[in-house]
Amino acid sequence: MQRRKFISLGSLGLSAFTFSSFKSPKAIRKPIVISTWDAGIEANKAAWKILNNGGPALDAVEQGVMVTESSQNCCVGLGANPDRDGFVTLDASIMDHQFNCGSVAFLERIKHPISVARRVMEKTPHVMLVGEGAQQFAVAEGFPLESEQLSDDAKRAYENWLKKSEYKPVINIERTKGNHSFAPSKLESGEWNHDTIGMVALDAHGNLSGSCTTSGQGFKMRGRVGDSPIIGAGLFVDNEVGAATATGQGEDVIRISGSHLVVEFMRQGLHPEAACKKAVERIIKAKGIEKSKEIQVGFIAINKQGEYGGYCIQKGFNFAVCYADDQNFLEDGKFIL
Ligand code: ASP
Repeated sequence: MQRRKFISLGSLGLSAFTFSSFKSPKAIRKPIVISTWDAGIEANKAAWKILNNGGPALDAVEQGVMVTESSQNCCVGLGANPDRDGFVTLDASIMDHQFNCGSVAFLERIKHPISVARRVMEKTPHVMLVGEGAQQFAVAEGFPLESEQLSDDAKRAYENWLKKSEYKPVINIERTKGNHSFAPSKLESGEWNHDTIGMVALDAHGNLSGSCTTSGQGFKMRGRVGDSPIIGAGLFVDNEVGAATATGQGEDVIRISGSHLVVEFMRQGLHPEAACKKAVERIIKAKGIEKSKEIQVGFIAINKQGEYGGYCIQKGFNFAVCYADDQNFLEDGKFIL
């Protein structure tokens, strides 16, 4: 019924859906942290420790996603799938409550791109460093240069991929709901086909921050950069309003400046869930329904009141929500198609 009702809104008669449709089922909470996919459960735990001690959201979102970057068998960080030439290249961004932001892209052999992004923000007059320059900066800042070798799982996945060498992104979904054990078999089977963790948090002082880190799409063209390190696309924070981050087909998130758009919808008064939904609708409108069926994009957001929400193109996206020691759980993203 729901689906039919939505489709009957016409060829994306999307404006009929307003914030008044949302009764804001979530209580206002602070501090709170949310992050994409089921790896977010572990990441939230690290972020929560900081938030619960009255620490800043900026530290929480950095240290939270570092957990995921460290996991050798995960979809994020140096253990992830390589590009089509066999190299793991990483993108990351971070943003605080004062419009300070930093990012790195096409970064190789550095374990924690999110921390390099933070150094770019704090120690340079720039917002973004890429490739060799980003690596040079990281090394100068004392980050160790890690081995170029692929993790065992990524190596197997790459060898499999080489048999056909086809660049065909698999629809970005989490098929093994509720399992955040980083099972290596997921990488081999191609089941684990999302590559990002995005996190946004509101601290006890009422300040927002966000982070986003990724290996990008597996077997991408060498040099390809997705949405995750692009401020406004993969991540955006406006401390007066809210914060949002994205996962999924990065090119389509960039096209609509996705996370910035979500924050702007919240500024207009939309609940975070409704704001995420409208951004997803914008992608579908731009791309057309048929082509949208071939991709996944998910947004998550929180507002200044600690309300949160997420939305995605199609079934299979989830996100982790944490606002108490015993409240760190996965929520399925609502979807449109
Ligand atoms: N958004 C990421 C990218 O396009 C990929 C992902 O979220 O899985 O690089």
